[in-house]
Parts: sequence; structure tokens; C-alpha cells
Amino acid sequence: MTEDGNPSTGVDPAVYKTLLESTRAIPWKIDWGTKAFAYIGPQIEALLGWTQDSWASAQDWAERIHPDDRERVVQFCVAQSQAGVDHEADYRALTAAGDYVWIRDVVHVVRDADGSVEALVGFMFDISERKRTEEQLLGLQAELQDLSFKDALTGLANRRRFDQVIEREWAEAGSGARPLSLVMIDIDYFKQYNDHYGHLRGDACLKQVADLLFGAAQGGRNFLARFGGEEFALVLPETKAEAARKIATRCRDAISRARIVHAASAIGDCLTISLGVGSCVPDDAQGLMPFMECVDRRLYLAKQQGRDRIVTDG
Ligand code: GH3
Ligand code: MG
Ligand code: MG
Repeated sequence: MTEDGNPSTGVDPAVYKTLLESTRAIPWKIDWGTKAFAYIGPQIEALLGWTQDSWASAQDWAERIHPDDRERVVQFCVAQSQAGVDHEADYRALTAAGDYVWIRDVVHVVRDADGSVEALVGFMFDISERKRTEEQLLGLQAELQDLSFKDALTGLANRRRFDQVIEREWAEAGSGARPLSLVMIDIDYFKQYNDHYGHLRGDACLKQVADLLFGAAQGGRNFLARFGGEEFALVLPETKAEAARKIATRCRDAISRARIVHAASAIGDCLTISLGVGSCVPDDAQGLMPFMECVDRRLYLAKQQGRDRIVTDG
């Protein structure tokens, strides 16, 4: 600080130069009239491999931007500069070795006494580390999202996902006046299976049932979920009662053909399932809840009537 209170007076410009050239951020200046680089810090060579001298004009800068980023960044920076607005842009800069480095360019627009744009000064920051972390985070988020909708044991969609899908399909079928069917499936005497074979074999059995049902239920936008415990739910968009009954039969047949031994079952030697089926064209008169309750009641009826069967409308 000098006597007149002006901190800049009397400071040797070489000090500023040293300061600018020892930062990790890379300073630069472009003359707006000629679009020529008036200056770029020597640090640029360590970062991108291009020599200080090779940065002659804004054209060199534009050509060293990743082709996928170039148009967006150049258009944005030119528009902001013309409007005299300070700005920043992230882009991938080409290195002399042919790789790319993520850069954040922070730009200040310098105006002359009349207010017209005289030059651009800015700093380039190497943000590749931050971008890598961001990308990892996005990947983890997607993985987490995936996991949060998946049942860990069977690999099927879980109840959360089912709730989303049935609501979406219900709304879609309603707005298009299209049919929608739902099948609720429950393993018979599964408590006895666990008691007889142990919980671990119970788990393996659940997984096998899930795989068999998945194979039998495939087609169109058909969607199978583990509804909970040893219950599964199958959403069948664009499916009327008759077709739904056929798919339910395919599910039941797939389980009986697999002949999964169940020595503790009260109705046979092999594992069986009970199914409730409902079909409708959703409208304002009927809500999703009553429809699901109706299908659930049919599943309950299948149990009451002796299990190993399908109860559908009519
Ligand atoms: P019902 O024929 O009337 O359906 O009889 P159930 O024994 O199958 O019915 P209940 O609902 O009484 O029993 C379901 C059993 O499913 C009880 C529970 O221990 C078992 N279960 C639920 N989830 C799992 C699981 O993830 N693994 C295993 N091994 N068993 C499970
Ligand atoms: Mg059961
Ligand atoms: Mg049950």
C-alpha cells in the first residue's frame, strides 16, 4: 500500500506477471477487434501440450474444443461477449497428444470508455478431476436408482417399482380407453416349505419360481414384480380377460411342469401356486384400489377353493 492509499501504484508489473504465471489457473487475453490472443499464460503448455506461441487467435481456441462442445461454447461465448456480459463455459479442450481435458473458462469482458467491447480476459481452470467425480457420482446414482427398484433375492422389480408401474399403466389405459389386466400370484403352503426345508432352500425356491414366472409371463409390456413375501404381481397392459387367463394358465403350468418337490404340501407332492386375475378398461367410475382389491379377493377365493388354481371374472 502506497502513501496515497492506492494499492496498485508503484507495484512492478513483473510482480503481477509472476503472480499470474504461478497460479494453477491459466490467464489469457484476447483483443476483441482482431480476435488475436494478446497473452496466454505459459502454464497452458503443461496442461494441454500446445506451446504458448501456438495460441495466435480465437480460431485456435475454437479449433481445440471438442467437436461435440464447440458449437455450443463458441456461440455462447461470442453472444455473451457481444452483449458485454461476463460468463463462464465448461468444455473439453484438445491436448497436443490427442486427448481431451475438461476446462472451465471464466471470462471477463473489458470495455473502453465508450462502453464498447475492447478485450476479453479470462482464466482457464482444469476441472477434469471434478468432472470425473461428477461422472462417477452420476453412475452411482443410476446404480442406486436401479437397486432401489429391484428385489435383491429374485432380481425382479420390487413393490416400489410395481406401485409406479401399475399407476402409470392404469392412467395410460384409462386415457386411451384400453384394457388392462392384473394377475396376483401366491405360492401355496410356502410356510410349510420353509418349515420343512429351511429358510435357505425356501429362498432358492422363491428365486426359481420367480424365474419360471418371468419366462411364462413374457410378452408385450407385461411386467412382473415381487409383490412381497411369496407373492408376485403381473401387470398386463393392452390385455383383455381371455388373454389374461391364458397367460395366468401359462404361469401355473410353468410351475407345475417344473415339479418342484414340496413334501409338506397338503395338496400334492409338488409346489403349486394360486392366482387371481382381473381385467377392465379403467374409467372414472372405478379406481385402481378397488380393482386391486377385487383381484386380491379372487386370489383369496382360489385359496379357499382348494389352491393350485386360477380364479378370474365370471
Ligand atoms: P397359503 O397357501 O395360504 O398361501 O399358505 P402359505 O404358507 O404360503 O402362506 P403364509 O402367508 O402363511 O406364509 C408365507 C410364507 O412365506 C411365510 C414366510 O416365512 C415365507 N416367506 C416370505 N418371504 C420369504 C423369503 O424371502 N424367503 C423365504 N424363505 N420365505 C419367505
Ligand atoms: Mg402362500
Ligand atoms: Mg402369501
